[in-house]
Order: sequence, then C-alpha cells, then structure tokens
Amino acid sequence: MEQNNNIKEFHTCPCGESETLVGHLRKKVEEKGLRLEGYPTCLQVIPAVMQRQGIPPIIGQKVPAGLVELDICMGCGVLRAVRVTMSEAVAGLPPQQPRPLFGNS
Ligand SMILES: [Zn+2]
Repeated sequence: MEQNNNIKEFHTCPCGESETLVGHLRKKVEEKGLRLEGYPTCLQVIPAVMQRQGIPPIIGQKVPAGLVELDICMGCGVLRAVRVTMSEAVAGLPPQQPRPLFGNS
C-alpha cells in the first residue's frame, strides 16, 4: 500500500471494523472470477481546494488541494474517509459557457 506524507490512509473505523461497502463489493466481484480493473475503489471522491470565497484565483497560481475518498463502514454504517491525498491545484481559466446553437450571439 502506498504511504507517504501526502497520503493518509484510514484502514479502520473508530468502531473497529475495517471492511467498507465498496471493499466488500470488490470482494464479491473477485469471487465471481472477474478482474477488479476499472471498478471503483471507494464510494465517492470529493475534491477539496483551498481558495478564497468570492475572490477569483490568479491564473497559474498553485493552491493547496486534496482528494477525500469516502466509503461506508460495514460495521456501523457511518460514511468515513478511507484515504486523504494532499496535493496542489493550479488555477486555470473558468469553464466557458457553451454557446447557444441558434440565435444571435
Ligand atoms: Zn464503523
């Protein structure tokens, strides 16, 4: 298992259970003799980007960022972090609004 200063893994829930919902489902996939490649490793991934609210970032500026991987504990049902990855994000241009296909613009 990868482990460095930028990755924190939480293998066990405070209730003592280590199995997660997606971990459990992955075992079921393996039991069917299927390869795990392409299947999710957790229930949800949430990005966490540190930027000031209401103030657009400077294009190209690096800001602290992270990814939180969440899953459901099979012991107590709580949604918990299984891995937190810290990194930096580079501020880019805001996504462009799609142009209408028809009409004057
Ligand atoms: Zn638990």
